[in-house]
Amino acid sequence: MRDIYELFAALSRSKFHCRFKLGEKETRYIRQKSLPKILEHAYELITARLAPAAPANDGRQTPTKNHPVFIAQHATATCCRKCLQKWHNIPHGRPLTKKQVDYILLVIEHWLLSQELTYRSKKTNH
Ligand SMILES: [Zn+2]
Repeated sequence: MRDIYELFAALSRSKFHCRFKLGEKETRYIRQKSLPKILEHAYELITARLAPAAPANDGRQTPTKNHPVFIAQHATATCCRKCLQKWHNIPHGRPLTKKQVDYILLVIEHWLLSQELTYRSKKTNH
């Protein structure tokens, strides 16, 4: 697991990860559901698709659209066990620990909040 500020600095230098942004539709969805509810979805998605030692279809288990958490996962390299190993030093081949799941949720929450802030400042600065 990495220091979150150092992680976000590294992600901001990655063209691939910077491509992922929340659109108006996903931002609206977060507002409707509220952020705690979205983080509950994140918890469910991560426990089901990432937490096992060898998740099904690893590398392809996270769609690139439809749910804000999916987009957040690609933007933060928490989409699959290979990315978790490469970007977050979380070894694959072992089930995720509770601490690792909490860390991933924190990363996703941090990213969602940063998007929400960018979205708001765009709206007020138009
Ligand atoms: Zn990945």
